Amino acid sequence: MYDVIIIGAGITGSMTAYRLAKYNVKVAVVEAGTDVASGSTRANSAIVHAGYDAKEGTLKAKLNVRGCAMMEEIAKTLDVAYEKCGSLVVGFSDKDREHIELLKKRGETNGVKGLRIIEKEELMQLEPHVSKDATCALFAPSAGIVCPYDLAFAVSENAATNGTEFYFDFKVSEIDYDGQAYTVSDGNRSLSSKYVVNAAGLYADDIARILGDPLPFKIIPRRGEYMLLDKSEGFIASRTLFVTPSEKGKGILVSPTADGNIIVGPNANEVDDKDDTSVTVRGLMEISEGAKLLTPDINLKTVITSFAGVRPTPTCGDFYIRKSEKFRNFIHAAGIESPGLASSPAIGEYVAGLLKECGLDMEEREGYIKTRSKAGNFKTFARMTDEEKVAAVKENPGYAKIVCRCEKITEADIANAIHRPIPAHTVDMVKRRTRAGMGRCQGGFCRTKVAEIISKELDIPLDEVKKFGNHSNILFERTK
Ligand SMILES: Cc1cc2nc3c(=O)[nH]c(=O)nc-3n(C[C@H](O)[C@H](O)[C@H](O)COP(=O)(O)OP(=O)(O)OC[C@H]3O[C@@H](n4cnc5c(N)ncnc54)[C@H](O)[C@@H]3O)c2cc1C
Repeated sequence: MYDVIIIGAGITGSMTAYRLAKYNVKVAVVEAGTDVASGSTRANSAIVHAGYDAKEGTLKAKLNVRGCAMMEEIAKTLDVAYEKCGSLVVGFSDKDREHIELLKKRGETNGVKGLRIIEKEELMQLEPHVSKDATCALFAPSAGIVCPYDLAFAVSENAATNGTEFYFDFKVSEIDYDGQAYTVSDGNRSLSSKYVVNAAGLYADDIARILGDPLPFKIIPRRGEYMLLDKSEGFIASRTLFVTPSEKGKGILVSPTADGNIIVGPNANEVDDKDDTSVTVRGLMEISEGAKLLTPDINLKTVITSFAGVRPTPTCGDFYIRKSEKFRNFIHAAGIESPGLASSPAIGEYVAGLLKECGLDMEEREGYIKTRSKAGNFKTFARMTDEEKVAAVKENPGYAKIVCRCEKITEADIANAIHRPIPAHTVDMVKRRTRAGMGRCQGGFCRTKVAEIISKELDIPLDEVKKFGNHSNILFERTK
C-alpha cells in the first residue's frame, strides 16, 4: 500500500516524485515505457523559457517564471547539464518590434526579471552570426538550456535514493476506487494507494477516461522536428535565438544545447498518432529554411542526427493541474505542453501542495539525501577535472578505457550507469545517461562495445541485450 502513485515518469511525474521524496511519504511511479523520460520529455527544444510567452494570469505563466527561477539550484544540487545562457527574440520589421514590446510588457507582468529590448548594434555584438537583416531583439537573461532527460534522470534518481519505487513497462489500463484507496493495474500487476497523480502527458486524457472522470478539453498531438548539429558548429549561437512569433506560430529556433551542440527546430504539425515521432523531408526543409533566416551562415551539413517530439497541446490553452472534482485524492496534471520543462520544478511543488490540501501527511523525511545517490552525483570522465581524472583512473582502471571516442565516455562510466539507482539495462538507457553514442558518429564505433559491457555487467548473453526495450534485440545469432 503506497501513499501516492504517480502515473508517468516524464518530467511532470519525476519532479513530483522529487518533491515528495523530501517527506516521509511512500511513493510509487508507474511508467508505460522502459525508462524515465519516455515521452515528450525525451525530445524537445530543452529551453528553460524565461516566462514572457504565457498569457498574463495563467497557471502556465506563474509556474514558468517560478520553475525557471528554481532550475539553477536543482541543476547545481544534482549536477545536471544546465546553462543560464539567456535568450533573444529577434525582430526583423516594425511589426516584429511591436510584438517584442508586447512580449516585454507581458513578461514584466508575469514577473520576469531583467528583460530588455536591444538594438541591432548590441545584438550583433552579442551574436555576430545573427542575420544582418535583424533590427532589434528582446533579451531575457534569466532563460537557460538544460538536458531534459538528464534532468528527469537526476530528480528520479534522487527520489529512488530516498525510497520512491519505480515500475517500468507498466501501462496503466485499469483504475479502481473503493472509496478509501485506488488500485492501479496494467492487467498483470496491481498497486494500491490513497492518492494518485495523473502525469501521463499525451495520454493524460486516457487515464482520466479510465478513471471515469474525462478531462473537459482535448489533448492534440503536435509534432516538432529537429536537426542536431555537430559541436564544431557551436560558434553559431551562444544564446537561444527565436524569431518573433507570428500568427503561424512560434517559428524555428537556433540554440546551443547544454552539451555543446546546436539544435535547430521545431516545426509544429498536428499528427493523428500520439507516438508519431517520424522525421520527414518536408519537415527538415522547413526547419532548414527557418534556421537560415535567423543565422544565414549556419552550416546545416554538420547535422549529426534528426529527431522529433510530440507536444500534448491542450485545447483549454493552459496547464490543467487540479484535483478531480469527482474522485477524492486524485490529481490531474494534464495539458503540460511547452513550457512544461521550464515549469517542471514549480509543477512538482504545485502538485505536492494539492496533495497536502487533500490531506496527505507531509512530515519531513529524516536522513533525506540531497544528491542522486548515497555516494553523491555521477560525473562522467569527460566532465572531470584533470586531477579528478588521475584519481579516478588510479582507483578504477576502467576510467582509462575510452569506449565512445566522440564523447570520451569510458568503460567505467558505462558500468556505473548500469548500476545507478535506476539502472540502465539497454544501449539507449546507457546512451542517455552517459552520452556514449551521442557524438558525431552516433554510436557507429561504440554501440557493440556498450552491448558487450551490458552483457558482462548484468551477466546476460550478448544476444539478449536490447537497444531500447522489448523486441529491440541488436544481435540475433553468432555468424562466425
Ligand atoms: C517539440 C517540443 C518542443 C518543446 N520545447 C520545450 C522547451 O523548449 N521548453 C519547455 O519548457 N518545454 C518544451 N516542450 C514541452 C515539454 O517537453 C513538455 O511540457 C514536458 O516534457 C511534459 O512532460 P510530462 O511529464 O507531462 O509528459 P511526458 O514527458 O510525455 O511524460 C508522460 C509519461 O507518461 C507515460 N504514460 C503515458 N500513458 C501511460 C499509462 N497508461 N501508464 C503509465 N505511464 C503512461 C509516458 O510513457 C510518458 O513517459 C516541448 C515539447 C515538444 C514536444
